[in-house]
Amino acid sequence: MTKVLIVEDEPGLVTLLKYNLEKQGYETVVAMDGKVVMQTVETEHPELILMDWMLPNMSGIDLCREIRQTHDIKHIPIIMLTARGEEADKVRGLSYGADDYMTKPFSVPELIARIQALLRRVVFKPLPKALEVGRLVMDFDKKQVYKEGQPIDMGPTEFRLLQVLMEHPEKVISRAELLKLVWGDMVHVEERTVDVHIKRLRKCLQEQEGDEIIRTVRSGGYALKG
Ligand code: CA
Repeated sequence: MTKVLIVEDEPGLVTLLKYNLEKQGYETVVAMDGKVVMQTVETEHPELILMDWMLPNMSGIDLCREIRQTHDIKHIPIIMLTARGEEADKVRGLSYGADDYMTKPFSVPELIARIQALLRRVVFKPLPKALEVGRLVMDFDKKQVYKEGQPIDMGPTEFRLLQVLMEHPEKVISRAELLKLVWGDMVHVEERTVDVHIKRLRKCLQEQEGDEIIRTVRSGGYALKG
């Protein structure tokens, strides 16, 4: 599950953000005080941070700068949440390393869209020519998958699904995340559809019982064995 850290000191806003993000399939962690933010980022390793501008004990801008200077967390995308009247600070915020900002009060669907866009930018790095995980090789030039050197045919959806799994070997990816990454945000598809295509993919890969390639994590999602 994609983890989002909410750094915000207004309890009402925290509740609103938590509720809406979890509804979208994200896992949330909350830090309400500037002092605990760095420690929370280091221990929780969120995939994205929503950072309030004005916080008790430390400003969002200082935190942003500190995160960008800290080796193993500097890559985490940050969306700054600013209050009205802090417009002039927006540019300053971006120059200190925030990837995007939103002005309060903001529309929740827009925030979700920005989060998804930002995560996509991070997830979809320029494609390598091929991916290799365990017994599988995905050749992007030929649009061909090989298992132990033998070409495997599959439909475009299964190809895309396998690509997402191969880009994150061993990582459990939830059905909601797979839906977003394979089918996109705009299409209305039920989570059950993911199961149907995983089943097809397994068949294409000629998965044998007791020698699985894709691991099913009950109520969690799917992971590709490395
Ligand atoms: Ca605040």
